[in-house]
Amino acid sequence: MTNKRETRAWVDIDLDALAHNYHAIRDWTRREGGDPVKLLGMVKANAYGHGAVAVGRKLQELGAEMLAVACLAEAVELRQAGVTIPILCLGQTPVELADDLLEYDVTQTVGDLELGRALSAAAQVAGKELSIHIKLDTGMGRLGFMWREGSQATTVEEIKALCALPGLRAEGLYTHFATADEDVDYTELQGRRFQEARTTLEQAGIHLKNYHCASSAAVLNYPWTHMNMVRPGIALYGHYPDPASEIRGEPRLMPVMTLKARVTSVRTMPVGAKLGYGCTATLTRESRIAVLSIGYADGLPRSLSNKLQVKLHGTPCPILGRICMDMCMADVTALPQVKAGDTAVVYDRDLNRIAELAGTITDELVCRVSGRVPRVYWENGTRIV
Ligand SMILES: *Cc1c(COP(=O)(O)O)cnc(C)c1O
Repeated sequence: MTNKRETRAWVDIDLDALAHNYHAIRDWTRREGGDPVKLLGMVKANAYGHGAVAVGRKLQELGAEMLAVACLAEAVELRQAGVTIPILCLGQTPVELADDLLEYDVTQTVGDLELGRALSAAAQVAGKELSIHIKLDTGMGRLGFMWREGSQATTVEEIKALCALPGLRAEGLYTHFATADEDVDYTELQGRRFQEARTTLEQAGIHLKNYHCASSAAVLNYPWTHMNMVRPGIALYGHYPDPASEIRGEPRLMPVMTLKARVTSVRTMPVGAKLGYGCTATLTRESRIAVLSIGYADGLPRSLSNKLQVKLHGTPCPILGRICMDMCMADVTALPQVKAGDTAVVYDRDLNRIAELAGTITDELVCRVSGRVPRVYWENGTRIV
C-alpha cells in the first residue's frame, strides 16, 4: 500500500517490535526474582526519532509505570495526546515554566537546592504540589547534587532541606552512569556512591518511592543496578547498547525503525563516469546507477558517503559518491530488475555497525531522522497511520 506521504523517504515504525522489546526487558529484570522492577520508558527526543506520541501511548498501553522526556515541551506534547501516566522531565526547567509543570502534572528532576526553592515557591503560589525526583551526580559530571568523597555531608543537608520544602513531593532518587557500556569499575564506583547516598538519606528519615539508575547498558549487563525502577531507551527501540550484550544476543531485541527511500531513476553509466559532488567515485565498469530520494537533510549522515550499503530486493547495493542534501546514488548493476519507484531499505538492523562507519553511535542515527521523513506506524502486522 503506497501512501502519498511515502513518495521520497520514510520510516516504518513497528509497534509490535516495540512491544516485544518492552516484554523482553521486563522479563530480563524479573529473571533474578526479587522485588518487581518498574519500567520508566525513555521517550525523549521524539522517542529517539520514532515519534513520541505513538511510542508514549503504546508504552502506556503496555503497562509502563512512567515515561521520561528531556524537556517540558516534550511532556506537554504527550499530555495533549492523552498520555496520563507519570512523566519525568530529566532536564532543568526554567522556573518561569513552573506553572506548566503543575498544570500538566509533570514530575521535575531537581539536582540543586536553588531550583528546589524556586519550584517550592511557585507551587505554593499556585496552591498545588509538584512531584519531583532528586538527581545525584555520582560521577557523570552533568546534573545533580554531588555525591563523592568529601561532598556527602553538604549534599545530605541540602537534600534534607529540599525534602522539607512545602509544595514539593519527593518521589524518587536517581543517578546516571557515565560508562555503563564500557567501564565496569567506574560503573561500580558510581553504584557504590548511589547506595551510600540512599542508605545515608534513609538513616536521615528520607525514604523515596523510586530508586533508579539503569539506562539500557546497565539494564542488560548489571542486574545490581536495577533497584526498583529501570530507565531503558535504546534497548526499547531494539538496539544493543554495547558490544557485550550484542554478542550475547540476549535478551533478543528487534529493531523498531526501518528507514526507507524510493528509487527515483535508474541509468546505465559508462566506465570512467564520475558521481556526485567532489567526484569522489569513478565507475570502473559500465554500471547501473539508481538515484535514491534521501539525503543528509533527511538525517542520513553524509559521513556514510561511499561506505553505506542499502538493500534493494534484499540485496546490498553500495552507495557511490557523496550523499547529497536530498539524494544519493546506489550501484545496482547486480540487480537488473531495479526500476524507478522501487523501495530501498536504507537501514533497519545492524545499526551499531553502520553507526561505526559513520563515526557515531546508534542513538544518534535514529534521533537524527529529520522531520521531513514521515513516520509510518505498524501494529499487529497492519499499517495504522
Ligand atoms: C537517555 C537517558 C537514558 C536512556 O539511555 P539509553 O542508553 O538509551 O538506554 C537513561 N537515563 C538518562 C538520564 C538519560 O538521559
